[in-house]
Amino acid sequence: MSSIRCEQRPAHASGASLRPAAGGAACLERQERPLLKPGEQPPFEIVNPAGSAPVLFTCDHASHAVPQALGDLGLGAEDRQRHIGWDPGAAEVTRGLSARFDAPAVLSRYSRLVIDCNRRPGQATSIPAVSDGSVVPGNLGLTAPEAARRAEALFYPYHRAIDATLDGIRKRGRTPAYLAIHSFTPKLNGGAARPWHVSVLWDRDPRIAVPLLEGLRRRTGLPVGDNEPYSGRDRFDYSNDFHANAAGLPNALVEVRSDLISDAAGIARYTAILADVLAGILADDALYREAR
Ligand SMILES: [Zn+2]
Repeated sequence: MSSIRCEQRPAHASGASLRPAAGGAACLERQERPLLKPGEQPPFEIVNPAGSAPVLFTCDHASHAVPQALGDLGLGAEDRQRHIGWDPGAAEVTRGLSARFDAPAVLSRYSRLVIDCNRRPGQATSIPAVSDGSVVPGNLGLTAPEAARRAEALFYPYHRAIDATLDGIRKRGRTPAYLAIHSFTPKLNGGAARPWHVSVLWDRDPRIAVPLLEGLRRRTGLPVGDNEPYSGRDRFDYSNDFHANAAGLPNALVEVRSDLISDAAGIARYTAILADVLAGILADDALYREAR
């Protein structure tokens, strides 16, 4: 039972609370073998932490980096750097929106193939053994302690950084709005071409999503995905549900098709489109309230 107690601690609880006596061998192993070596980049980056807007932008899939201890996960560079490892272009769009609105942003700094920051740890897709037709050798037969080591090193610190940034906005007396920025691949392996250039994923809170969908259609005249090609109502998602929907924060998840933000011109174009449409939505003081 002792190892179960270690695994079932509250989400995002501080790793400092782990004690070998409480967690058994699995926790002890985690403490003795930290995943990130001294000098490696930290698991998250907070951009513009003192930004004045009561808005947080996040990027769960900002990077395809792999900790040195995991080598190349058994994949070639081409596979690690395609969409299965990260969301190409999403980090730059996130940084651009953070600057445009003077808002903080939190970005993950490691590949979703190491551990996906938008999946609950323990789910099958949290550390995928196969992704879009590619077997990930470094994830095959992963033990529970190794999966927990990745969560402890990367997943929980990233989400604690989001918690802390949201708390910083609340301490200023504001209810934060939460916007997650992603990109989607134009076509999955063997799948149909995806026609949407931008998509908005949302669950029950329409406050940002509905005017954003309308504004993007009006601004571009192009197909906009409404909970396509993925759905914000999918129970496998984590970040928006945990940080925003559960707390009643106004929120949405934005996905830009990655081929449209593959160079500086595309990134600038789509950052401007999103910023123009979001500006009217985020300017409404009535937005910044918890949904009942
Ligand atoms: Zn993503």
